[in-house]
Amino acid sequence: MGFPTKKRQWYLFDPRDKNPFKLSRSKIELFTQCQRCFYLDVRLGVGRPKGPPFALNSAVDTLLKKEFDIHRAKQTTHPLMKAYGIDAVPFEHEKMEEWRDALKRGVGILHKPTNLFLRGGIDDVWVNPAGELIIVDYKATSKEGPITLDDEWKIQYKRQMEIYQWLFRQNGFKVSDTGYFVYVNGKTDRKSFDGRLEFDVAVIPYTGSDDWIEGVLTEMKECLMKNEIPNGAPDCEVCSYVELLKNEMAFNTPDSVSDVPRVSSVQKPAKISAVKKKAVPKKKISETDAPKPNQNLF
Ligand code: SF4
Repeated sequence: MGFPTKKRQWYLFDPRDKNPFKLSRSKIELFTQCQRCFYLDVRLGVGRPKGPPFALNSAVDTLLKKEFDIHRAKQTTHPLMKAYGIDAVPFEHEKMEEWRDALKRGVGILHKPTNLFLRGGIDDVWVNPAGELIIVDYKATSKEGPITLDDEWKIQYKRQMEIYQWLFRQNGFKVSDTGYFVYVNGKTDRKSFDGRLEFDVAVIPYTGSDDWIEGVLTEMKECLMKNEIPNGAPDCEVCSYVELLKNEMAFNTPDSVSDVPRVSSVQKPAKISAVKKKAVPKKKISETDAPKPNQNLF
């Protein structure tokens, strides 16, 4: 994990600045999870510690992109799309590389009511015969049993899909409410590794709604304009832990730590003077006492 050692000085929201402020899709997600974390990051430059990069996921993303690009160039339907009865082809557009650049570009739009510029990098876009864009996201995992979107935490995947749908709509595209997760699942039931990891691939549809996004953007802007740190998420263990740490460190200063009862004050040891010291004869280690080879010493 990368722990921040000092506050970030760049990409900070300044309420006095009239220029549009750029925010990535992940910051909308952060805001929906915890307004305090969002504020600390975007206003004050204290971001959450980053986890290690998921190199295997990136490898899967790259390979899937290459595979779908072959069909994009030929405007043919990928066998997976056929297998799942999806009447579409990978969308061919001059901005595809830009939209896929999650770090610097992506698909973006200036949301005029808030003056926030929102952007996000997509994995893929398909298009159906009606000319509707289909947002596609690649996911990689390794678990037993069928993959579903039912786990509670996967709400963030659904929101992610809905934000991408919204971004494309704001850019003037007709977008299907149904997007797809191309989910690859690393198989663990092979007899041996043999230097190869095999995957099952599932295409999972998700029908989203972007109705919530406008309201959340307004709340985000209001939050950023305030000069007070909002409350944290009530069910988050991290801030409670930090609070506990702060209290402990404030009250248990080195002086007070020394007041912590010691064993001697609870149970008085017998006075040494009262115990008659017995002279213990020094024992000579005879040949018979010495550990023998192969003898168990413990
Ligand atoms: S409550 Fe949790 S998520 Fe929110 S600021 Fe604290 S650590 Fe971050």
